[in-house]
Amino acid sequence: MNTPELLAPAGNMEKLKIAVHYGADAVYLGGRSFGLRNLSDNFDIEEMPAALDYCHSHGVKAYLTVNSYLHNDALPRLEEFLRQTAPFPFDAYIVADPGVMAMVRTISPQRELHLSTQANTINWQSARFWASQGVRRINLAREMSLDAINETIAHVPEMEFEAFVHGALCISYSGRCLISSAMAGRDANQGECAHPCRWSYHLVEETRPGEYFPVVEDENGTFIFNSRDLCLLEHLPALVQSGVAALKIEGRMKGINYVASVLRVYRQALDEYRANPSDWHCRPEWLEELAKLSHRGYTTGFLFGAPRNVGQEYHAAYIRSHEFVGLVETARADGEVVIGVRNRIRSGDELEFIGPGMRAGWFTVKGMRVLTPEGDSVEADTANPNQRILLAPPFAVEPFDLVRRAKGETP
Ligand code: SF4
Repeated sequence: MNTPELLAPAGNMEKLKIAVHYGADAVYLGGRSFGLRNLSDNFDIEEMPAALDYCHSHGVKAYLTVNSYLHNDALPRLEEFLRQTAPFPFDAYIVADPGVMAMVRTISPQRELHLSTQANTINWQSARFWASQGVRRINLAREMSLDAINETIAHVPEMEFEAFVHGALCISYSGRCLISSAMAGRDANQGECAHPCRWSYHLVEETRPGEYFPVVEDENGTFIFNSRDLCLLEHLPALVQSGVAALKIEGRMKGINYVASVLRVYRQALDEYRANPSDWHCRPEWLEELAKLSHRGYTTGFLFGAPRNVGQEYHAAYIRSHEFVGLVETARADGEVVIGVRNRIRSGDELEFIGPGMRAGWFTVKGMRVLTPEGDSVEADTANPNQRILLAPPFAVEPFDLVRRAKGETP
């Protein structure tokens, strides 16, 4: 069976290592400019060789996103950026703007080109056009149904196609939206979207400034533009059978807990399908794991037709049952583990440790030792973000395991 590549976001070096550890076949990353998601931390030119070495030494491909739409004044900076990255062995560049594509062709003629979802490919004629331009892979627009995906792949068999399986959805054609530009001065097509579609909205009558009428009454306000997040886990078999070359997870701006949790679910689901397609079923623990992440309710998006109002979440911007509190840095032979604290941890907390392959263990904190900058450790009841602590969970733990806590379990 031709199993699609699992393609994960790598917003910075830490997220890249997490993506590799939790089973990505390929990652996509951006420079500080020209890749949408300018506000995620991204990579300096100097950091890229180490990132590529890390990926390739683990058998993982790395794609560079250069998918902004650019104005004339940005072209000289783009040329410099492309010349600087030309020697790096990226497995492909992800582009959207035909002008950027032409510049890559001139500066790095051998570079494989993948077409970004920003180019909004929704039919096979477009796919055929891009094939004639030498594009190797197209990330299909999220606004396509499964039937449309199948039809497009059947018409352009020489092209590789990629489909999003998980992550945020726009209320416009992916990123083609002026709300952020108008309301926050941050242009979505330059990678700077402030996500104002997720904000709470009320109705104001022109002559009554300050009087905000809820459109739908609810104590949280009204989230009329708030799309649910995409989750196609239950439909992996249909996507694999469609012949897509890659399944893409959205979220370069999301944290490492998101990258780890989503990947470990989709990795196991895909591996189980490859091993035994006729017996595959969507395990409840996979859906439970995805429900623990901060999300806005899940939808299958356009996979089975226009989502209409079931694709909207009207009641809250985010749903979050668990919070990420730390990352295991080192597992010592004596059973103690060093944890980098990201959110306050206190004695009495019930912590869950998670790792690849849906590995998990629970443990109640009965005290901890905080590491000092001098390398000593002191007993403590509480640890704060950016501290490093020693704990001794009664089960095996590995570096890159994540530590989380159900919300509301802090004593
Ligand atoms: S404001 Fe919302 S719909 Fe518009 S580009 Fe940003 S995420 Fe997409």
